[in-house]
Amino acid sequence: MEKFVTIERAIEIARQTTPQINVESIPIEECFHRILAEDLPSKVDDPAFDNSAMDGWAVRSEDTTRIEVGQTSAGDKAGRIGPGEAIRIMTGAPIPEGADAIVMVEDGLQGEARPHFIRRQGENLRRGEVALSKGQLMTPAAISLAATMGYNTLPVRTKLRVAVISTGDELVQPGAELNPGEIYESNSYGLCALLEKIGCEPILHDIVQDSLDGLRETLNGCDCDLIITSGGVSMGERDFVRKLMEEEGHLHFWKVAMRPGGPPLFGTWKGTPLFGLPGNPVSSHLVFQLIVAPWIAPEINLFKSVQVRMLDSVKGAPNKVCFRRIEISNENGQLVARTNTHQGSGNIHSIVAHNGLTILPPNTDAKVGEHIEALWFNQ
Ligand code: AMP
Ligand code: MG
Repeated sequence: MEKFVTIERAIEIARQTTPQINVESIPIEECFHRILAEDLPSKVDDPAFDNSAMDGWAVRSEDTTRIEVGQTSAGDKAGRIGPGEAIRIMTGAPIPEGADAIVMVEDGLQGEARPHFIRRQGENLRRGEVALSKGQLMTPAAISLAATMGYNTLPVRTKLRVAVISTGDELVQPGAELNPGEIYESNSYGLCALLEKIGCEPILHDIVQDSLDGLRETLNGCDCDLIITSGGVSMGERDFVRKLMEEEGHLHFWKVAMRPGGPPLFGTWKGTPLFGLPGNPVSSHLVFQLIVAPWIAPEINLFKSVQVRMLDSVKGAPNKVCFRRIEISNENGQLVARTNTHQGSGNIHSIVAHNGLTILPPNTDAKVGEHIEALWFNQ
């Protein structure tokens, strides 16, 4: 077991245990948020034939005057024109033989002939070209592109079945009456959504009280490929996830040099991989994005790495990389960052109210005007 490791080392240690993922072929309309399992070569040229990008006339650019000799729409076969002739053409219709330019309908038949309004065969994609690679997250645009390339089913990774378990005596389901000392359980809902976003099937479990026996029973009852717990991994008396994993599981790492999110752990419980995330809502969310997601799907980038100029000062952390929440925006062509809310690891609003994170190296603050490395959420 390694203690207090870097994020990179944490991922490396966890990757020594590999996720149980296979490949399945499913209809394209079910592929949202799934991960492509193979490179996808286009089955066709896109466009498949030269066609018009505009409503207007297909013409010969050398002609100075023209007469209209016919009409063509999307779905028609390509016609033909001779000298001085034009064919009225709709967007998407094939370019008639002999034509080399389009006159826009707005300009009238004798208007300017514009060659660039012909969309050329294969100008977007050539047949055989791999436009979607293995590991691609199937976003709405990626799904549209796969259809454009001629696919109606796609080879995707099977959904990892992930048990999501919150631990804590203070936790109550949202909507219920709160007694003194109780709070709403929120981590598991965010974690389930994060899991769905990267092609997994979350299995939401009931809240587990802080008891060794209750936790053991729940873990033993899990039927899944991965267990994710939140809470109970610090040094406290009642941090039973850590205790149970230490005493009865196999612990591979505990504690990562990051703030927020210090005490996560990884190991196996009776052969099933298990990430124990910290209970603080910001910590569990960020540890998932920075460590769990790269373990599940290394190719997916939930963040873009950027350099930003700080408009507010932010404090770093002793011996830990510090991820302050920041709002990144473009000011006169330069990325700048400010902070809008309280930065506590209990404040999940700080993630919603910002769109990025600082990467402050251990023992470094950032002053106003300084340029620093940052992560920009890809939504
Ligand atoms: P723990 O890691 O169990 O020490 O919890 C750290 C903090 O996170 C405490 O303030 C807990 O009340 C809070 N917390 C733990 N689990 C959750 C949860 N599932 N939803 C919201 N807050 C939680
Ligand atoms: Mg707790």
